[in-house]
Amino acid sequence: MARVFNFSAGPAVLPEEVLKEAAAEMLDYDGSGMSIMEMSHRTKTFEKVLNDAEADLREIMNIPDNYKVIFVQGGATTQFAAVPMNLMSANKKAAYIETGNFSKKAFQEAKIFGNARVVASSKDKNYTYIPDCSDLPIEEDDDYVYICENNTIFGTKFHTLPNTKGKPLVSDQSSCFLSEPVDVTKYGVIYAGVQKNVGPAGLAIVIIREDLIKEDADLQFPTPTMLKWKTQIDAKSLYNTPNSWAIYICGKVFKWIKKQGGLEAMKKINEKKAAILYNYLEKSKLFKNEVEKNSRSIMNVVFRTGSEELDAKFVAEAKENNIVTIKGHRLVGGMRASIYNAMPIEGVEALVKFMEKFEKENA
Ligand SMILES: *Cc1c(COP(=O)(O)O)cnc(C)c1O
Repeated sequence: MARVFNFSAGPAVLPEEVLKEAAAEMLDYDGSGMSIMEMSHRTKTFEKVLNDAEADLREIMNIPDNYKVIFVQGGATTQFAAVPMNLMSANKKAAYIETGNFSKKAFQEAKIFGNARVVASSKDKNYTYIPDCSDLPIEEDDDYVYICENNTIFGTKFHTLPNTKGKPLVSDQSSCFLSEPVDVTKYGVIYAGVQKNVGPAGLAIVIIREDLIKEDADLQFPTPTMLKWKTQIDAKSLYNTPNSWAIYICGKVFKWIKKQGGLEAMKKINEKKAAILYNYLEKSKLFKNEVEKNSRSIMNVVFRTGSEELDAKFVAEAKENNIVTIKGHRLVGGMRASIYNAMPIEGVEALVKFMEKFEKENA
């Protein structure tokens, strides 16, 4: 069977080139006579895979030396707990901006540990916009300000970072990671589950400003060894057996991004892809995107017809046309096209062409 255009929100499409390379190396990685999956993580060969992955990521994102990078397990969701455990000081206070399901979950997790408050929310309009975060009620003793930068389910994105009034900004970038350049120095912590834009599920990448890393004595909670960022930093992500397969694939994707021209090039092509879809949605009489224009995500584009029946028909007929996993998240219904880095422009063009046809047939 030929490859399909896979609009899944995650796990999601990966560059075909990367998949082919991994397939070719499956029986014999670099003359080792085995795959990376079968190889001890204590070998020089794997160590190089890990070190190269970190070096390439640092180069792509232009990560300053005073930031540490770790590759950890448990996906993005485990970091919902790791963030308060590692960042809360004696005050145990943090400000959360609620822009969808993932920031809400992160907030609820933080409340287990301390006094987490929602300081801005877009719940009033079903998360269809990013609230104004220029003057938030951030308090002197807040330990950090938390955002989910791209809202995978609702199709919104922060295009201006909040004014944190000097507090460290913590950002869940899972669904926009490496989709465009970011100024790492504006953040205290960036983390991402990699299965949206970079690799296989189960791995998270965490980028932490050095001065935020706590010694054991300064942690406010009995923190499991594996959840302490310091453990992972000191062990260079090799405290236990890491998700070596995922790290290997991520490493290949980093090299692929470099070959495309880095994050400036990714941004350009991603904006172009998103524009094709949004331009059509603006004209369409059948499909609607309810997101405020200045809050639109260029990674996850949500739309609906207004009729659940028609939505279901669209999803079914799209599948017959090789356009798959386009159904919206179960919380919101409708449709969602996730157009991550690895989605070729041909995929977006095919989708819009099919939408036009569907619109004509169902007018
Ligand atoms: C998918 C996603 C998560 C959850 O990731 P897991 O790896 O399944 O824990 C968290 N935040 C955002 C923004 C996501 O898109």
